[in-house]
Parts: sequence; structure tokens; C-alpha cells
Amino acid sequence: MIGIILNDNAYEQDIRELLMAFFPGRSFVHEMLPGLELCLIGNVEEDHQWFRMQVVFWGEYSHLVWGNTPAEQRELDHFDEPIAVDYENRTDTKNKIKRRLYVILKALTGRSLPWGSLTGIRPAKIALTLLEDGMSREEIHIHMQEKYFTSAEKARLCVEIAGRERELLSLLPKAKKAEGYSLYVGIPFCPTTCLYCSFTSYPIEKWTKRVGEYLSALFQEFDYVAMRMGRHPSAVYVGGGTPTSLTAEQLKQLMDRLTCTFDCGGAVEFTVEAGRPDSITREKLAVLKSYGVTRISINPQTMNQKTLDLIGRRHTVEDVKDRFCMAREMGFENINMDLIVGLPQEDAEDVKKTMDAVKALAPDSLTVHSLAIKRAARLNIMREVYKDYKITGTSEIIDMTARYAREMGLEPYYLYRQKNMAGNFENVGYASPGKACIYNILIMEEQQTIVACGAGSASKRVYPDGRIERCENVKDVALYIEKIDEMIERKRKLLTDF
Ligand code: SF4
Repeated sequence: MIGIILNDNAYEQDIRELLMAFFPGRSFVHEMLPGLELCLIGNVEEDHQWFRMQVVFWGEYSHLVWGNTPAEQRELDHFDEPIAVDYENRTDTKNKIKRRLYVILKALTGRSLPWGSLTGIRPAKIALTLLEDGMSREEIHIHMQEKYFTSAEKARLCVEIAGRERELLSLLPKAKKAEGYSLYVGIPFCPTTCLYCSFTSYPIEKWTKRVGEYLSALFQEFDYVAMRMGRHPSAVYVGGGTPTSLTAEQLKQLMDRLTCTFDCGGAVEFTVEAGRPDSITREKLAVLKSYGVTRISINPQTMNQKTLDLIGRRHTVEDVKDRFCMAREMGFENINMDLIVGLPQEDAEDVKKTMDAVKALAPDSLTVHSLAIKRAARLNIMREVYKDYKITGTSEIIDMTARYAREMGLEPYYLYRQKNMAGNFENVGYASPGKACIYNILIMEEQQTIVACGAGSASKRVYPDGRIERCENVKDVALYIEKIDEMIERKRKLLTDF
């Protein structure tokens, strides 16, 4: 148990996230209790100008470990000095506090984190912004190590990805990026619910009777968005859930309305997540093909049958291979596969087996996720039941997936991190040249306004000065159907004056 005692909560979340990265799985309290292993006390002093931080520790951390980089050592040399608070520049103050806390925690534990003091989900956005500001790649590489104490490897990965993102974004005319938007459509149904799922997803069998109503509500959103934003989204992404959980007839209805309302053919890409192999049929793939879908995802997550059974995905490894080959044979030239590292009971050997099987299929892109156990996931809700499951995510395994991706001719092109990620790692998207998903970059790096339709989806407006505003649709499908007018009203408020 770890204590955080602050007289001003402005930076509580930043402090807690960094402590969580050093001490995964610990609970936090806001008072000095017996049994704490460590307590951070922080006070904003003297007319809110200074933040003074003290870390009290007991037991195994009661020794200091040295071996810091010169930049870390410079920070540590001033560890008992207060930090200047600039309320006008929250990000700067937050970074100063996290730098200081990072070097103290590193000295106490003897551990360093691959991402250093960075806890945000978009590290590549920092590199991309600096690149656009004119900094050279070499300067950014050094900057990330000195300012955030990231490892040289992660800094290099960020710089490489930012460079590639920049090239890919240049495929969108500047005016279109700034004044246009991309469209997300959420279909919140799946064949079954995976153990680790925290998305808006409902088992399709239980909702069969209401799918028609869901689509009707969704089409009302389409009409409003087309009227407000125009018919020409830059990129179109249909996700969920699993859109191919719909019947072929329902899928046809969806594609028909979507392509009539929007010029999907004029978009740089038109993606549909076929996702679960157990939802894919030849008929459904034919529907997607006939409406001009350019990119699909067939996601095994793992190619080990015992794990698939364990995580509640009712399909076989053979199903993955079969549907992949079917899609190829039907002419899909851009197929992505999603994998997860750190699944329960999987070790390096299991991941290697998955990578060998995926390599044999040769997808055009690959997204490697590190397992993140979110609050809403069954794996978390029923943690007592699953407490004996072993979850292994190591940097060696992550490095192995990166090596395989390169061997397959795939280059990293986007990256993001999540809270509660196994081992504090990252998710990386790899693609062969010309096959990257631009929508993924637009949304991850917050480069363009995304208008999202469907239950549980979130729209994000990106202003020219970089400011971001969001509005969310309710997650509950029945409520979404019932409150569709309110969902449209939320969009109207967000998109006024666009
Ligand atoms: S396929 Fe994806 S959205 Fe559907 S239950 Fe599994 S994790 Fe959730």
C-alpha cells in the first residue's frame, strides 16, 4: 500500500500514475497509515508558487541505488529543493514534478522504466510535434532521454514512428486534414465477450432482435453528421465490437446506408474490423468487397488454442488461417492482424509460436498490444477467480515481436500506451510500405477531428491551436437507441462552428 498526501490535488493523477508504473498492483491511500511501504507528501507552498515533495519510505526501499545518467543525476542533486509551480503552464509543471519523482523512485528501487517519467498514452505525439517544430531527429532522440529519461531504445522508436507518421500524414492534403474530419462507426456486438474486454461489446445472440433498431438510430446519426460535416470524410473506420457479428443482410444494410450517406470511396481508406474469425463468412466478406472496403482486420490475438479457449474466444487457430486465406483469395490486399502479448498463462515460447504462425500468413499490417487489464474487464471484475493465472509480459518478448515484424517486412508506424498495461509497455502498429492505417495515426496523434457514431463511441474535435474537445455517446445499446436525439444534440454542441 502506498500513501499520497497532497494539499492540492492538481497533480495527484500524474503522481499516482508514475507511482503505479514503479509499483504495479499496489493500492493507494491518502493518509499516513501503518503498513505503508512508501508515502509521498507534497505541498504547494507560499502563494502557490512552489511545490515541495518528500518521499518517506520503509523496509526494502531504505537504501539508495546510484547509477544514473548525467541528466538524472543533475535532477537528483536538487531532490530536496522545491519545484516552481506555473499554473499558466500545467504541462511544464507536471513534467518537472514527474522528473523529480522519477529520479527519486529510481534511486530508491534501483529500477528504471523504459518510458522514464512519461506516463501519457501518446509518446510519439511529443516527437511528432518536435519534428514539426523543426527539431532534427538526433536532437529529439537526445531531448526525450534528457527531459523524460526514456531509454535510448524507446526514444529511437518514437523518433522513427514520428518520422513515418509525418510522411504518411503528408498523403492527406493539409487543408483537408485541418478542415476535414474522419468518421468512426461503432458496432457494439461480438460473438462472445473476451475475458480481457473493456470495450463496448454485447453478445450478439442476446441482441439479435434489437439490431434493426440499433441500425436505425445509427443511420440518424449518419444523416446528421453528413449534413453538419459534409459527405467526404478523410478516412472511414468501422469498428466495435465486431461489425461482422451482424448477419450478411444487416451488414449489407449498414454498408449500403454508410456508402450512400458518405463518399467512402473518396476517403484515403475504408476499414472494417472483421475482428473475430468466428464472425466471418464468405458472404459477409463479399458484402464488404462489393462496397469498396479497402482494409480489414482479422484478429487472432494469439495462435495458441489453449489461450483462445481460456480467454473466451470461441474460435480455433484453424479458423484464423481459414478466414485469412479466404479473404486473400477474395482479393483483400490490406489485411491487418491484432495480437496481444501478456495473455494469461502465455510465456515467450507461446508468443514465438504465434509469431511463427502469423509470419506464415504474411498479413500486411500487425498491431502488437500489451495486455491492459481495465476496470470493466471480466479478468479484473472476477480477479479472485482468475488470481492464479500467470501474466508474463517482458521487454524480451516485446522485442521478439518487433524483430518478427521487421523480418516480415513491416515497419512501426504508430504507437500508443494504455493505463494498467502489463509491464508498462506500449502497443505498436507495424505495416508494410503503403499499407499503414492513416486513421490510426489521425486518432492517436490527435491530428484531425474524428466524428464517431454508435453506442460507446467518442467524438473528438481538434481545434487549429491543438485544443481538444470530446463528446461521448452512451455505452448502453438500449439507452443509445432511446436517447438518439440527445446523442445528436451532443454532437451539435461539439461541432458548432466547425
Ligand atoms: S472481440 Fe474485441 S470487442 Fe469483442 S469481446 Fe473480444 S475484445 Fe471485446
